Amino acid sequence: MKLVTYEHKGQSRIGVVEGKSVVDVRAALDLVSKRRGPRTLYSEAKFKSAAATLGESGAAPRDMFALLGREEAWLRALAVVARALASRAGGAKATGVGAVVLPLDSVRLRAPITRPGKITCVGLNYADHAREQGGEPPSSPIFFLKSANTISGPGDPIRLPPNSSKVDYEAEFAVVIGKGGRRIPEDKAYEHVAGYMILHDVSARDLQFADNQWYRGKSCDTFAPTGPWIVTRDEVPDPHNLRISLTLNGQTMQDSNTSNLIFNVPFLVSYLSQSVTWETGDLISTGTPPGVGVFRKPPVFLKPGDTVSVTVERLGTLTNSVVAPDEQGRGLTASRRHSP
Ligand code: ZN
Repeated sequence: MKLVTYEHKGQSRIGVVEGKSVVDVRAALDLVSKRRGPRTLYSEAKFKSAAATLGESGAAPRDMFALLGREEAWLRALAVVARALASRAGGAKATGVGAVVLPLDSVRLRAPITRPGKITCVGLNYADHAREQGGEPPSSPIFFLKSANTISGPGDPIRLPPNSSKVDYEAEFAVVIGKGGRRIPEDKAYEHVAGYMILHDVSARDLQFADNQWYRGKSCDTFAPTGPWIVTRDEVPDPHNLRISLTLNGQTMQDSNTSNLIFNVPFLVSYLSQSVTWETGDLISTGTPPGVGVFRKPPVFLKPGDTVSVTVERLGTLTNSVVAPDEQGRGLTASRRHSP
């Protein structure tokens, strides 16, 4: 199932993407709880049972956090109902399905999770990327955080900060935490994974390398485009065998496979859970493969007008354009500038 956050008629909604349609989760739950829609649907045992499962859980989820926190059986039932409604949507206005299912191109997709509690990132998690920088693969994972102000969605601009001239791209495969937990053994780690999505770990190299740690260079506004959707875990049977690539203005800059990850998904989930509590909607971005701009000869950095697309097998493609610093940003920098 592909889970989205989208905007329609000025409202933020959560939905399920089926082909070229999006099924509004709250509207779908309302429909089945009142047994509206085509009568024939309710004569199908699979649909009837799924609708009953959804109806048993009380209030509909308000947002993506609430949706990701639902039990797997509930989410499976949602998938059955969403697929059935989407398949009946054509010419189904009279039955009420038409109001629940919208054409995907009529809505604006937002970041699937608008304010994740943690955006945990892994540095140097592809052996070939580590060697690209002249280092050996690390023996234990190196973590850093991006703050929530970085989050942006499909099609949103990557806004260059006024104080950086070395903004770089990083294609990444990200894990979305479903059920929270701590001290999770590796063999139970997948029970806490709701699904996966693309995360573009945009990085200001000059800020990153000037400081002794990476916070400032990694956490500029708009530096974490995500989406276009969360693909639930059942649709990604092997997260360690997915092609991952990035194009800059149509030219391939990164092209690898998650089979090259040094520290895999269950290890990362378990390892950090020994120290931190995972909460629903937390993200683990698993690192970037070789080909980043800063280590190219000559180096390549993002500039206004560029278009960057990240593609991960089974997860889709996330495209964002790069824009110049805004006027407000320039003013702020000038007025706050002083000697240390
Ligand atoms: Zn990264």
